[in-house]
Amino acid sequence: MAKRILITGGAGFIGSHLCERLLNEGNEVIALDNFHTGRKQNLAHLLSNPRFELIRHDITDPIKLEVDQIYNMACPASPVHYQSNPIKTIKTNVIGMTNMLGLAKRVGARILQASTSEVYGNPLEHPQKESYWGNVNTIGIRSCYDEGKRVAETLCFDYHRTNKVDIRVIRIFNTYGPRMIPDDGRVVTNFIVQAIRGEDITIYGDGSQTRSFCYVDDLVNGIIKMMNTDNFIGPVNLGNDGEFTVKELAELVIKEVGTKSKIIYLPLPQDDPTRRKPDLTLARAKLEYTPTVPLVEGIKKTIEYFKKSLQT
Ligand code: NAD
Ligand code: UDP
Repeated sequence: MAKRILITGGAGFIGSHLCERLLNEGNEVIALDNFHTGRKQNLAHLLSNPRFELIRHDITDPIKLEVDQIYNMACPASPVHYQSNPIKTIKTNVIGMTNMLGLAKRVGARILQASTSEVYGNPLEHPQKESYWGNVNTIGIRSCYDEGKRVAETLCFDYHRTNKVDIRVIRIFNTYGPRMIPDDGRVVTNFIVQAIRGEDITIYGDGSQTRSFCYVDDLVNGIIKMMNTDNFIGPVNLGNDGEFTVKELAELVIKEVGTKSKIIYLPLPQDDPTRRKPDLTLARAKLEYTPTVPLVEGIKKTIEYFKKSLQT
């Protein structure tokens, strides 16, 4: 049955893909965004749809809306962006989360929180299971995001226990695809944009650190499945469990773009996690979630997107 759905951060990378999918499924969708890292152009193709609304609003201020479901995606995700105004990042995760849980409580909506693999910090357990409590620096440059997201999870579970708010919590691992911002500083965007422009490919550290990269379509499948699953509130890991070194990613991008760019090595940022890979056992068992897009395919699609978008 069609629902009225609020997507905070709806003009961002993942949020805009969610808006599109939920509209295509026949729902009414309200995207809410303060346009810090989101862009209207991500939603331009949806604006003429009568079932779609776009609101400029900051979730650190309360808002009254009547909705059935809330996807709380609002928060800058790239380290460069969330570190550009760290106090705002914490406020978004703590005050913003509280406002959205308050809204969910008032109207009886189900709320899904976009948490992150960053709650595991620089993990001492590999791959990361949901039962792992993490290894997080409370006072470092990533803490505004990592600790903010940890408090947001705590708020969800306290609203659930205290006020019976119907929560869902997902922990998203590195996701990439069309509509990322070219200068967002994340590794996939940096490498693709550098390769297309023929600039040096900047590996931080020696490139032996690993990440598991998920194509956005797979992630969106998992997010919607989790929202619509009964009797399971999470937290659940969502991503792709293929694990690659940053150097392997650089080599793949160089090959697929066919660039003459050379790799250069720059210092590793503080608190940069050494290894990261989701254990997806729970997602497979509870949601029948399986990522289907191999890294090489997803990277090809993302390269095509950036080749077009960098021209305009
Ligand atoms: P993004 O930066 O593209 O999107 C975030 C959106 O939220 C932007 O449109 C931004 O303008 C908006 N926003 C930020 N603060 C806001 C506020 N206070 N009020 C209203 N809107 C606000 O990032 P993304 O990659 O699409 O990430 C979406 C969500 O998923 C974030 O919560 C992020 O923490 C989480 N996540 C993403 C990844 C990933 O790899 N992309 C990994 C883990 C978690
Ligand atoms: N990285 C890199 N070169 C870049 C950007 C990032 O080597 O130009 C590294 C970064 O240090 C990290 C990994 O790639 O080890 C993933 O970085 P990203 O910012 O994409 O995400 P996160 O660190 O949050 O997983």
